[in-house]
Amino acid sequence: MLKGFRGRIFYFDINADVFHLEKGYHYFEDGLLLVKDGKVLKAGSYDKLSVEVTQKYECIEFGNSFIFPGFIDAHVHSVQTKSIASYGNQLLQWLQTYIFPNEKKFDNTEYAREHTRFFFQQLLKNGTTTAVIYPAIFDASVEAVFETARMLNMRIISGKTWMDRNAPDYLIEKPEKSLKSVSGQIEKWHRKGRAHYAITPRYAITSSPDSLKVAASLLRTYEGLYIQTHISENMQEVAMVNHSYNDHKGYLDVYDSYGLLTPYTLLGHGIYLSSGELNRIAQAGASIVHCPTSNLFLGSGLFDFHKTIEHGVKIAVGSDVGGGTSFSMLSNLHDAYKISALKNNLNFENSSFNTFATMNALEAFYFITLGGARALHLENKIGSFLQGNEADFVVIDPSKNQLLSYRLDGADTVEEMLFAILMLGNEQVVKATYLMGEEAYPFKV
Ligand SMILES: [Zn+2]
Repeated sequence: MLKGFRGRIFYFDINADVFHLEKGYHYFEDGLLLVKDGKVLKAGSYDKLSVEVTQKYECIEFGNSFIFPGFIDAHVHSVQTKSIASYGNQLLQWLQTYIFPNEKKFDNTEYAREHTRFFFQQLLKNGTTTAVIYPAIFDASVEAVFETARMLNMRIISGKTWMDRNAPDYLIEKPEKSLKSVSGQIEKWHRKGRAHYAITPRYAITSSPDSLKVAASLLRTYEGLYIQTHISENMQEVAMVNHSYNDHKGYLDVYDSYGLLTPYTLLGHGIYLSSGELNRIAQAGASIVHCPTSNLFLGSGLFDFHKTIEHGVKIAVGSDVGGGTSFSMLSNLHDAYKISALKNNLNFENSSFNTFATMNALEAFYFITLGGARALHLENKIGSFLQGNEADFVVIDPSKNQLLSYRLDGADTVEEMLFAILMLGNEQVVKATYLMGEEAYPFKV
């Protein structure tokens, strides 16, 4: 079954180089995306492809709307939607006050299903087609994530978020218990359909050495697992980790020494990492997930994206809701841009001022499409319109936002248009979201 989608098509070439993105993208003002059996058959200019393709197909016309590869949210909590926009305080106090009590409710299957469905709807209405998800410690919260993703046929990476200390009793369990339940979940869900399992010890403060050993043993037992956790998000957190793991060289070394640093490791935040730590992450082939709206909301700090890529580390972007304030990856990019601009100015004091260090529009879109896919090692499945990739895409209609539409009128370059979209766009401009060539948003019921 062949389908065509016509609109302004933008995506990065599979060979794009993060340092030369201006040479690594495709843009078709009047473009056509051809999808066969849920996969990309071809993307190109409408005039050219309509002559080339003789087979009949239904063509869905999107006019002046943009068609992008679906956005990738590489760090988001499915159990924190109710905690979004909860006033005040720094990370550790905020977790205790708002996050932990809300996560407790996901012990109940019915509650977990209902609220996880709402969470996925938020992803889709914001154009997110792949998400890396932290549920809670409860089986019900994990099952709800994998079941919902399977129902939607959506690509996800997720796994039970476990803790064994420094959290309320109702959210911790002994590592042996986690080992048993996680093993069961891996066997049930890992590499089934579009799902991957991620070993998810929440972070070093809530993980004892025994718990990290269990995480490592799971990595050795099962093939192709991801591992996700938080690192160097907040200064108080870093100080606590240095105190409780004082026989280690630093925060990264805690995970590294237990064998948790692999090419499939996704490290959330990474604001206060040293050059040595960044080098080690690059060497391991692991990735950092930058969470801009969360870092500003919780006052955690200013991530240095430029320094990070200069060290050869791959970056993806995460909304980190409920610390993050928006499911929209566009909103997250506009905060990422502002953070990079601030960081650029602050770096002036350290005499490393670099006028190219402020994130540009191509870099921003790269991080939520192809760059995100590369960080997840999924670039041969998602993130671009490479032939054979899964046809996950988002349709952005600027006319849904009068100011954006006004701004784009007369814009000269692709970069100018993309920048305006990321600065002014949000869920309002998402016209449709497709998973494997099927419309997943607007919702049918
Ligand atoms: Zn998080």
